[in-house]
Amino acid sequence: MVDKQKVFDELKEEAIRAKLPLFESSTNIVFGKGNPNATILFVGEAAGRNEDEQGLPFVGAAGKNLDKLLGEVGLTLSDIYITNILKYRPPENRAPSTEEIRAHTPWLMKQIREMKPKVICSLGNYATKFFLSGCNPDLMDKQPGITTVHGKVRMIDIDGMNVKLIPLFHPAAIIYNQKLKVEWENDMEIVKKEISQKTLV
Ligand code: URA
Repeated sequence: MVDKQKVFDELKEEAIRAKLPLFESSTNIVFGKGNPNATILFVGEAAGRNEDEQGLPFVGAAGKNLDKLLGEVGLTLSDIYITNILKYRPPENRAPSTEEIRAHTPWLMKQIREMKPKVICSLGNYATKFFLSGCNPDLMDKQPGITTVHGKVRMIDIDGMNVKLIPLFHPAAIIYNQKLKVEWENDMEIVKKEISQKTLV
């Protein structure tokens, strides 16, 4: 079996050398964590301060919520890989620009091509709209928001790969809006059902 971890390590070094937008204002690249040989990929938006300091995604408050989520569905970091749309933190955690998404997502696409995930859980609006747009940053604005599509599983085609997309609220959104908790718990039931199917092995 190809050692995907080695390939990912090399990709990360390549991405650093590419000096993507936001490289200058960041402490570390936040390329991803978990198991690149897994079949489930979680994709968030962009690093916050803690992630930028540690060079790892989802290690702050949103990360604690994500850990809880994963625990509830019986997943550990060895069962999944987690990355973001942007590989660097936008200053003051502002929203990513279309130009930044255009420059950074080719690296997400390289990760997906290597990993060949069977399931992608998109966390929040940016990741969800990216996949719903057929991975075209210029069409993201035209996509429905996470409030409409969360928990609605669909098959998408990524470069000829059939991938099951499960859009989920962003784990940070639940911190700020407790009303989403019930919807989040319902969505977790869907994740549980979808990842327990045999297709994942
Ligand atoms: N929010 C994200 O979308 N990604 C992270 O890595 C951290 C917080």
